[in-house]
Amino acid sequence: MADESYDLIIIGAGPGGLAAGIYAMRAALKTLVIEKGIPGGQVNLTDEVENYPGFERISGAELSMRFAEHAKSYGLEILNREVKTIKPGMDQHLVCLDDGTELRALTVILATGGNPRRLNIPGENDYYGKGVSYCATCDGFFFRNKTVLVVGGGDSAAEEALYLAKLADKVYIAHRRDALRASMILQQRIKDECKIEVLWNTIATEIKAGSEGVNAVTLKDVVTGQSRDMAVDGVFIFIGFTPNNQLVPAGVKCNADGFVLTDEKCETNIPGLFVIGDLRQKYSRQIILSAADGCTAALAAAYHVEAKKGKSGKDVCQL
Ligand code: NAP
Repeated sequence: MADESYDLIIIGAGPGGLAAGIYAMRAALKTLVIEKGIPGGQVNLTDEVENYPGFERISGAELSMRFAEHAKSYGLEILNREVKTIKPGMDQHLVCLDDGTELRALTVILATGGNPRRLNIPGENDYYGKGVSYCATCDGFFFRNKTVLVVGGGDSAAEEALYLAKLADKVYIAHRRDALRASMILQQRIKDECKIEVLWNTIATEIKAGSEGVNAVTLKDVVTGQSRDMAVDGVFIFIGFTPNNQLVPAGVKCNADGFVLTDEKCETNIPGLFVIGDLRQKYSRQIILSAADGCTAALAAAYHVEAKKGKSGKDVCQL
């Protein structure tokens, strides 16, 4: 770290953070990306990505590597450290690292993402990517003409089950209660879809696999207490998503689930503090949408920096 003062500090080097880095470097912003793990974030955990334009099929790890290489080709500085706090200020924001270092930045983009909530049952971690999934849009294609189980009863479980029904032969939904939480319109669509069968008052207690991946799930009826094994090729878990919002400063507006509210520039209610990707309240969580957020926020950050430095503040959307 040659200097401790930046135009832009980006926290998180997933697709959103790295896309922001590319646009920021092209806008000649003095930019630092801070990442505590490896660049790519959650994408690294995705076996195959088949819906990122330009790549018919690419492993999540390779796509992450390409994002990082592209960003580094502009000379983007990526620091492998943990951020402890962000202290917003009127003119500059302070980004405090785990060793006590304080960095100053005119703008900050927070891109720390989130994680699908886990069931924490045996087999869930072991068979992740081998039949256990948290994303039907990403992995559903591998279950064409197969039998899958969706766990959960909210909008996500309902929407993803309907998506899977277009591909799979049979979709079971295991829900722990006797009524879905999902909106009525989705409930009606579930009822109308003959490939979907809801298993009421049912929880999954173990996921089992053979050499080809997941082949069964143990289900428990919470009313009778009885357990049974059911043959399935895949288990899709949608029991909520937890945003990584620990670094969001006090006073930043969030929704009831802890996702940050932003305007169309991805700017929070604190000027110069942007939130992008899965941490932001948005319609859908996809790699391409995080990358798009990164672009938007970097362009808006460039405008903010120019205005702060007293330059023209002209439109930067053609970079
Ligand atoms: P959610 O609404 O919190 O639903 C989570 C579901 O998982 C609930 O049915 C819950 O059961 C169940 N669940 C939670 N923990 C569980 C566990 N340990 N074992 C078994 N089941 C468990 O989460 P979501 O569906 O991801 O939706 C999150 C937010 O995004 C919601 O506000 C939702 O409306 C919104 N969303 C909207 C749309 C849309 O409008 N098209 C699409 C997706 C998401 P209980 O019902 O018993 O609590």
